Amino acid sequence: MQPALASLAVNILFFMKPLTSQIKQLASSCGYLDCGIAHAEPFDLLAGELERRQRLFPESAHLYQNMENRIDPKRTAPWTRSIITAVRSYGKYRLPQQAVGHIGRNYLADRRVPQSPDYQMPHRFTEELKKLGLRVKRGGVPERLAGARAGVVSIGRNNFAYHPAAGSWINLESWRIDAELAPDAPNYSCPCPDNCQACVKNCPTGALRAPYEMRFDHCIAYLTYRAPRPISSKLASKMRGWIYGCDDCQTACPLNRNKWCSKKSAPWLEKIAHLLTPEALMKMDESTFKECIFPLFWYIPEEEAGRWRENAERALRNQERSEE
Ligand code: SF4
Ligand code: SF4
Repeated sequence: MQPALASLAVNILFFMKPLTSQIKQLASSCGYLDCGIAHAEPFDLLAGELERRQRLFPESAHLYQNMENRIDPKRTAPWTRSIITAVRSYGKYRLPQQAVGHIGRNYLADRRVPQSPDYQMPHRFTEELKKLGLRVKRGGVPERLAGARAGVVSIGRNNFAYHPAAGSWINLESWRIDAELAPDAPNYSCPCPDNCQACVKNCPTGALRAPYEMRFDHCIAYLTYRAPRPISSKLASKMRGWIYGCDDCQTACPLNRNKWCSKKSAPWLEKIAHLLTPEALMKMDESTFKECIFPLFWYIPEEEAGRWRENAERALRNQERSEE
């Protein structure tokens, strides 16, 4: 068959498929590992969870208030009929070993860094959805609950979303659309083995004090980029070698065993690998930080030089103490 005719035949076959199959095929062609469809009713589970967390942790109640906007997917897009949630796996990248344990893997392999090969994934998928004639709006829903409602992930006791093929080394992205599609079966089951609490035991600050109970204002990720400074010396001394983010409740998890495959190189990280250590960051001038590090550490406002230097100094101090 002539190439033009073969391509036409492929297109005809594609458009003969049900819309849900077309959407999933497009997600895969854009690089997503998985994709599911959910209904668009309000997330009552989120409303209950926010209420529970604010009751358990009144000190950090204010940190949950913005999330209330995500309870009803129709609040900012009344035409929403279904939700698509796609799974991006980042456990495929070879990370610079000197940065692992200091910078969260999610941030090292952050899709939002323009040099990342995954940077365009959601933009491409949005455009493909529009070509199908759909009205589309990205975000605006609680991603983990949307992923569980769409059946593509389940939520572990450390509150992370898990995919059977990639563990918790994933990001979820959602789109609200105006087509009423048959939803996939939800997955609200807990993926964790009975009696496992390895994540709770390995949380350095005790932020994750029990299954599904995380005190946000003690979580190292928050402490490294958003928390008011200074951080109490008691808490700082428990933050191990972390400079930006924390992986400890994920690296301790048996569900993540053998899920990081390091198949792909990450040239944009290799170029700056020598800068991703506590020693290098402590000595770094602001222009090098802005040019090379800020695209990775973008939760830290560019002008907050004090914060990243303090993070690096504390990481080195804690590391030296643990080696004594
Ligand atoms: S990210 Fe770190 S500090 Fe936060 S809950 Fe997990 S182990 Fe604890
Ligand atoms: S460490 Fe155990 S309890 Fe925690 S999320 Fe992983 S499997 Fe679940």
